[in-house]
Amino acid sequence: MNPSSTVLVVNSGSSSIKYQLVDPVAGQAVASGLVERIGEKTGAVKHSHAGQTTTRQLAIADHEEGMRIVLGLFEEVGPALHDSNVVAVGHRVVQGGAVFAGPALIDDEVVAQIDALSPLGPLHNPAHVTGMRVTRRLLPDVPQVAVFDTAFFRDLPAEAATYAIDAEVAAQHQVRRYGAHGTSHQFVSHEVPKYLGRPVEELNQIVLHLGNGASASAVAGGRAVDTSMGLTPLEGLVMGTRSGDIDPAVVFHLHRNAGMSIDDIDDLLNRRSGIKGISGENDFRALHSLVQSGDASAKLALDVYVHRLKKYIGAYHAILGRLDVLVFTAGVGENDDIVRAAACAGLEPLGIVLDPARNEGRGGPKVISTDDSPVTVLVFPTNEELAIARQAVEVIEAAKA
Ligand code: AMP
Repeated sequence: MNPSSTVLVVNSGSSSIKYQLVDPVAGQAVASGLVERIGEKTGAVKHSHAGQTTTRQLAIADHEEGMRIVLGLFEEVGPALHDSNVVAVGHRVVQGGAVFAGPALIDDEVVAQIDALSPLGPLHNPAHVTGMRVTRRLLPDVPQVAVFDTAFFRDLPAEAATYAIDAEVAAQHQVRRYGAHGTSHQFVSHEVPKYLGRPVEELNQIVLHLGNGASASAVAGGRAVDTSMGLTPLEGLVMGTRSGDIDPAVVFHLHRNAGMSIDDIDDLLNRRSGIKGISGENDFRALHSLVQSGDASAKLALDVYVHRLKKYIGAYHAILGRLDVLVFTAGVGENDDIVRAAACAGLEPLGIVLDPARNEGRGGPKVISTDDSPVTVLVFPTNEELAIARQAVEVIEAAKA
């Protein structure tokens, strides 16, 4: 492939379009931007290229108008797309259900399948479909590829994917564990072995993707064997604003005894829970400041967050049998040495021995365990856009072959 080829990576949300023009060979973003508040009175567009950011405030009626503005900015401030050798558009898709085990070249049928999965991804899939329709219309000559957040987990072992509920109900309504953040878990668990110079087939890994959303995965020989998100990205770890695991009876209790509707409880568990629910803050930088000032609820939020993380590390260690690598990634995982230290504290009997000096500070990639720690612990930056761009290129090259 031509090293100066690029892929336009698009993440189309219900009222936003996030995009990045990626050089998949150099592994770099050439330009990036965000269209926000589509359909509202005043929308906004931000486009960054070559160290400069251009912003516009204007009404943006729909995704088509948003995308036209983006294409206009590429021509106006650069880089001009017709000079950028755009070989594919890669669309991030949150829910691929049990259908998609890998990326798919987009045609009418694939769009219809993604649309049909909307009941399982009501907040995301309809918006992805809109983004695909618009981008296909505006860039008709560029092949488009859908990359699924669930694909890495499509073939989880049945015992990890199945909820212990009435089998007929589960089958009829497609209730199973699909996972999420799969593009990140796959990218990190396949890049870390290269970084360590060890074959992926030989490694048992736990990946902790700790961003505003947070998830853990257990990966054996490069294949996912368990993950913490389930039917939706609400299950599992405590997150910025999401509860993660709770007793499902909390829902019945709040509905029956607090008079809350299902929509109220959905909002509570997705947007008013997690560390924000306990402390009022969903950003870890603010949470640590509160902890330092002696705020008891912030301390409790941090303790609950770390307690859940440890539970998953222990559980996945047991599932894997032997653990070789523990990786921290995403906003919190890459930047928050306090959380990393707290999550690993006391896990020496499991072979996890952190080196406090190596752990200190932000960024990576870096090994943060001691040289003789049986488990290698790392900080490894995720790059979902690059992963999407690379997968898109693989799909179009395979289609050509
Ligand atoms: P992400 O969803 O991966 O972009 O992660 C966003 C989250 O990362 C934020 O909400 C913060 O909680 C966290 N974060 C970002 N930078 C830092 C930092 N320097 N220290 C601690 N947490 C950070």
